[in-house]
Amino acid sequence: MIPAPFEYHRPDSVEAALALIAQHGDDARVVAGGHSLIPMMKLRMAEVPHLVDLQAIGTLKGICIDAGRVHLGAMVTQHELIVDEALASAAPILREAALQIADPQVRYMGTVGGNVANGDPGNDMPGLMQALDAVFTLQGPDGTRDVAARDFYEAAYMTAREDDEILTQVSFEIPKGGQSYEKQKRKIGDYATAAAAVILHKQGDQCSAASIAMTNLSDTPVWSEAAGAALVGTGCDKAAVDAAVAAMLGDIDPTEDNRGPVEFKKHAAAVILRRAIARAWDRA
Ligand code: FAD
Repeated sequence: MIPAPFEYHRPDSVEAALALIAQHGDDARVVAGGHSLIPMMKLRMAEVPHLVDLQAIGTLKGICIDAGRVHLGAMVTQHELIVDEALASAAPILREAALQIADPQVRYMGTVGGNVANGDPGNDMPGLMQALDAVFTLQGPDGTRDVAARDFYEAAYMTAREDDEILTQVSFEIPKGGQSYEKQKRKIGDYATAAAAVILHKQGDQCSAASIAMTNLSDTPVWSEAAGAALVGTGCDKAAVDAAVAAMLGDIDPTEDNRGPVEFKKHAAAVILRRAIARAWDRA
């Protein structure tokens, strides 16, 4: 499989990348790790006459934890999420989730920015970022704006990002409480049949705050406000977990595909969410 011919650009600043996008319009597309885009180009499902590589842009790299917030440059790789000890201590759910993405080869190249900008419902980072209430920073010809991860996803491969904007940073407050990322997949390296990101804050023996997001169970990630609300004020006992699972099932909308029929996916989603809640509660 060989992609259609393209011209390769390697700008060294966001401004230079934006200028190339302005110059070539719909014919230009940025490439980050290339582990979603290049396979699409090889399959001829995407034709990109001008490929704008972000690898040489230093300002898009690096992990910074400052004043209670985590800032991830868009070009931070999934491997870097795993090996950064300060990040693992501030937000261990990132390491837990990143370790369940594909395999080391993909994780050395795949980036946080590419994973969240792609809009693929199968990507693990979008739901995780919704659970963390992360903010995506976008830079375009008219300047910079922030969009909440919970408002970013509109449909499969459709996001709030304009074609002439580059996602430069992902940031979120250091999460409080216990965290868990659980994923059901057909085999190592596969995308999720169902995955759940859960963050629970405990005060005394009661849950005082809960955030729950599900992956690959709709054409966008699903942050289930109702599922989280069902746990708040409870001790995460069986009745509360049943209510959270029921609320989550009301929010997802899976479709049948080679990962199984709708009923199976709902079953998998329920099992995964129960496991994620139990683990996050243990860690809270
Ligand atoms: P690219 O492929 O370079 O880009 C993806 C899209 O995002 C393109 O449209 C590109 O134009 C756009 N884009 C990239 N960066 C930016 C930016 N900064 N601003 C604006 N637009 C941008 N992912 C998972 O989450 N879970 C999995 O289980 C999983 N399994 C995989 C298995 C295999 C075998 C492979 C090959 C990939 C798998 N992936 C999985 C995808 C992998 O994580 C990708 O690397 C990731 O989804 C995209 O990141 P990237 O940096 O490679 O982006």
